[in-house]
Amino acid sequence: MNIYHMSYTQKFVGERMAMLSFKGCNFECIGCLRKRNECDIYAEERKYIDWNLDNILTELEELKPHRIYLGGYEPTLDPDLIMIIERITKLGAHIVLMTNGGRIDMEYAKDLKKTGVNEIIIGIKAFDAKKHLYYTKRSVKPVLTAIKNLVTLEDAYFRLQIETVLIPGINDPADIERLAIFISRIDPAIALFIEPWIPLEGVEFKEPEKRDLIDAVSGAMRHLYVVSYHPLYSEINEIRKTPRKAKFIEILPEQ
Ligand code: SF4
Repeated sequence: MNIYHMSYTQKFVGERMAMLSFKGCNFECIGCLRKRNECDIYAEERKYIDWNLDNILTELEELKPHRIYLGGYEPTLDPDLIMIIERITKLGAHIVLMTNGGRIDMEYAKDLKKTGVNEIIIGIKAFDAKKHLYYTKRSVKPVLTAIKNLVTLEDAYFRLQIETVLIPGINDPADIERLAIFISRIDPAIALFIEPWIPLEGVEFKEPEKRDLIDAVSGAMRHLYVVSYHPLYSEINEIRKTPRKAKFIEILPEQ
């Protein structure tokens, strides 16, 4: 079992949510986001348990989560993943697998669906083949094939979402629009989430400009029905420094 960490919250936008993190990855991304922080940056408390699957499941049974994320590094490297999913499906939660998509061939995609995964989020780091190779040291082809495979299996109980990172010089707004065109040719109803690169000391890429984020979103929206995005890291820091309630102004007809 590759699970090395678990975090949960009783209240995440109204839901009880748990995340199981798996160690090991088949990619070697420059500035791997996971390596920066292997634990939960939002956790305020820590609890220690005897680390085995039974005890992890006991924790989950107590929480009764609505949603369980399988993520961390790359869960599909775990030879026990199917067995783990089989066991957690008994909890009746919505199971989301987060993957780089590099190891999901058709057979494995069918197994994941049959075992009880409800949603797969494929994170594609760069659409351009050369830039993907440079950034991850791996080919983008298996990732694109995984997207094509998973789409054929989609139904109301098994959904696919694509995530991509806006990285200046690696995955620019024009690359993201090309990714959106690729997805739209398969199915324009597949949702795309755009995450701006978080700057990291010693790593060559800068935080994207806000206008690039907006360009990436509006370019993708020309081709897909559902496009959403995360704010810039600097914006979030700014919001955290100045917590305040949004001010709403009501306008009514004069009496
Ligand atoms: S795919 Fe994710 S976990 Fe793997 S190296 Fe890249 S950023 Fe890190």
